[in-house]
Amino acid sequence: MQPSPGTPQQYHKGLLEACPFPLLVIDSEGKITEHNAAALSLTGRTSAELMFTSIFDHVSGELSGTEIHNKIFSGNNRFECPLSLRHKNNSYTDISFTGSVFFDAVTNTQGALVLLKEAAAGDDIKNENAEYYRALVQTNPDPVFVVNREGYITDVNPAAEMAANAGREKLIGSEFSILFTKEKEAKKACRKIFKQGTLRDHELTFREGTLTDVFLGGSVYMNEKGEVEGIMITLHDISALKKNERKLIRANKKAEKARRMAEDAMKAKQQFLSNMSHEIRTPMNSIIGFTKVIMKTELTEKQREYLSAIKLSGDTLIVLINDILDLAKVDAGKMTFERIPFRIRESVSAMLHLFETRIQEKNIRLFKEFDPSIPKVLVGDPVRLRQVVLNLISNAVKFTSHGSITMGMKLKKEDSDNATLEFSITDTGIGIPANKIDSVFEMFEQAGNNTTRLYGGTGLGLAIVKQLVENQGGNVWVKSEPGKGSSFGFSLTFGKTDVKIQTEAEAETTLRPRKKIKGIHVLVAEDNTLNQLLMKTILSDFGFTLDIAPDGKTAMEKLEKTRYDIVLMDLQMPGASGFEVTEFVRQKLRSGVPIIALTADVTDADVKKCKAVGMNDYVSKPVDDKLLYNKMLGLLRKNIPKEKPSRSKRTPLLFRERIAKSASRKRIR
Ligand code: ADP
Repeated sequence: MQPSPGTPQQYHKGLLEACPFPLLVIDSEGKITEHNAAALSLTGRTSAELMFTSIFDHVSGELSGTEIHNKIFSGNNRFECPLSLRHKNNSYTDISFTGSVFFDAVTNTQGALVLLKEAAAGDDIKNENAEYYRALVQTNPDPVFVVNREGYITDVNPAAEMAANAGREKLIGSEFSILFTKEKEAKKACRKIFKQGTLRDHELTFREGTLTDVFLGGSVYMNEKGEVEGIMITLHDISALKKNERKLIRANKKAEKARRMAEDAMKAKQQFLSNMSHEIRTPMNSIIGFTKVIMKTELTEKQREYLSAIKLSGDTLIVLINDILDLAKVDAGKMTFERIPFRIRESVSAMLHLFETRIQEKNIRLFKEFDPSIPKVLVGDPVRLRQVVLNLISNAVKFTSHGSITMGMKLKKEDSDNATLEFSITDTGIGIPANKIDSVFEMFEQAGNNTTRLYGGTGLGLAIVKQLVENQGGNVWVKSEPGKGSSFGFSLTFGKTDVKIQTEAEAETTLRPRKKIKGIHVLVAEDNTLNQLLMKTILSDFGFTLDIAPDGKTAMEKLEKTRYDIVLMDLQMPGASGFEVTEFVRQKLRSGVPIIALTADVTDADVKKCKAVGMNDYVSKPVDDKLLYNKMLGLLRKNIPKEKPSRSKRTPLLFRERIAKSASRKRIR
């Protein structure tokens, strides 16, 4: 048998009693009309003591009874607030008061259900925390928006209202992303916060009100169950920052433009210097070369004196041009350094020899203090080292009229791969005033206004020294006392090696022929008539015969028809360049004839190209005849053909073949 359903009143009563929480029914005036047992135990009162009393007599809180009444009955809604309930024994219990309006279907009167839920321990803390955070958000000077999963604003702080130039009623319920110029970006940022939990410094532009550029940051917030309920977003005004950034970008652009202009000007300057040096050097080659040639002829004492003066001026001019070119190369970052093994003591000593005559003339003394523990052979750039020492010694000689000059070379540091050396050039000369000492390494700087007049010079030497040393990873310094003397020093690190090298004296004896060698036939490929004449004079002096090819094409023809012992090749010629002629010789003619390049401006690129096309060596102009002679002889000896070529009896043997023959005879013996 099915149980019969009870009357509505019975059902109503049953529901009331089944509720585990204190539950009351109040009428439209707030009078208690019904209650359950839980309500009696919470209040400590009997049913009679509770019935028909006003609910608002039993509770107290921030809101007055009337306010609570109005909240419940005006909203047709559920109203909830924290309150204190007065117990019969006058003690108070914190409760959560929930009121919910209904229309009684039976009595047809309006009333409300009131649930009094005892606040759990910690609820107050939660409330306090909530209040604390709310206060934080409210007082935050940055706009704060609370946004739900659908992207709608659910709460804002006053700063947000101000920024958006709209009240909270208008903002709440509106879409958050429309506040930004890039709506999609803003939506993406919100999605990111939901996904990642937080987001910082996301740049956006605020469309409304006064804000423009903002950093958007935010994090999710959760309900008591730990479920993500929404996100709290803060906007930080970065318009001032952006303004500065834009200013900085503009300034950087300006600086970049200025830098590029300076770079272009520098390049133009380098090109000009390089062109001018080349143009000056070419006629200088002839002047120096012919002076040397004439000096070898019969001359009166006076003529020799005048020619020496011309030669000295020519040499000085060439040094100056080389200095300018070197600085231009450093400026352009084109200065490269060789790493070859060389005998450092001999190299530096040879440099000092050059000054012997001048030192004797000035009646001063030169001392060498070389640390005996310095390795004999080191790896580095001997030419650049000599250039540095030459500059410092020539200054010391120039500015010293009595006393001495000491060249020191000390081993400062050494490991298995490298040796760091400290060089010093100390003199007892005029010294440098304290206020000038910091600028002597700068370009065109001289310590005194009358230096040029008294001692000559341009103020380039020390600038080159500094560049040459620093570009090899070393450093330079100077100490000086006016009237007492100066000490210039520099340090350089060299590589160590086991390679053995002949001393120059040994090399000289190997290279220098015992007798003057005759019968060497040379092709000189050179377009400049003055240089042709100069080479003719020099080579005839060596006892060699020569043919001249005034351009590249003629050089090729001559090399095809005639057999030469050696070729001296200018690089820049009309018709075909020296490189092209060499390529023709090596590739087309398949000839191994030694070729020495003659070049006015030796750049590293040129040297590499010379080697790449198959040239054996190079000599820079103005040609040093002794160096040229030794290089030619060295190549002629080295370049002995491996196989004995078959030839008709009538063709005369070339010099190198003759040497080969005698060498093989020596070996047999
Ligand atoms: P230059 O010698 O061609 O004038 P440098 O760059 O070599 O140029 O030297 C710059 C200046 O430094 C010189 O003009 C001179 O005033 C000063 N100076 C260099 N070396 C010495 C030295 N040993 N004693 C005194 N002054 C020196």
